[in-house]
Amino acid sequence: MTDKPTPVLYLDIDGTVRQGKDDALGRFVNGPEDVVVFPEAVEMMRRWKAGGGRIIGVSNQGGIALGIVDERQVAAAMMETHRQAGQLFDKMAYCRHHPNAEHPEMARCWCRKPKAGLLIESALDLAARRPGEIYPPYMGLMVGDRPEDAACAEAAGVDFEDAVAWRSRAFRSEAGGDPQ
Ligand SMILES: [Mg+2]
Ligand SMILES: [Zn+2]
Repeated sequence: MTDKPTPVLYLDIDGTVRQGKDDALGRFVNGPEDVVVFPEAVEMMRRWKAGGGRIIGVSNQGGIALGIVDERQVAAAMMETHRQAGQLFDKMAYCRHHPNAEHPEMARCWCRKPKAGLLIESALDLAARRPGEIYPPYMGLMVGDRPEDAACAEAAGVDFEDAVAWRSRAFRSEAGGDPQ
């Protein structure tokens, strides 16, 4: 890692912070009862916050646009994720659109990853709510488990780290000692 300041951590949610389709859950998260947060992710988040950083969740929830999942369930699952993650998120943002949706209002957007909208909107929102906290792209790091996350980070101009590599650093001490 370089010694540049990195105040903002953008975290993909499914498969990064909580179990997703490719993990033990084996399917998409539908509601709060499905939420299982990775302890390693919480540990990494705790360290980030201890260093004074902000954490923003960014998630594609296209099931809303397709009518597969109810938005209230998505929101409730986000709140449960926030709870299990020790209330460490400063903000959670999700895209409710999908290109296969019937109505253009739900089919076209600038927020579905790999587009950069969720990151940009979140950064502007953070700046509006907290005067002085204006963080340009070089001050951000995004962590995700899918190619669209890496592409989103690239589009936004922030650094990217793979979720598995990120979580694997959680219970390894700085000195390289035994895992806990
Ligand atoms: Mg994911
Ligand atoms: Zn969207």
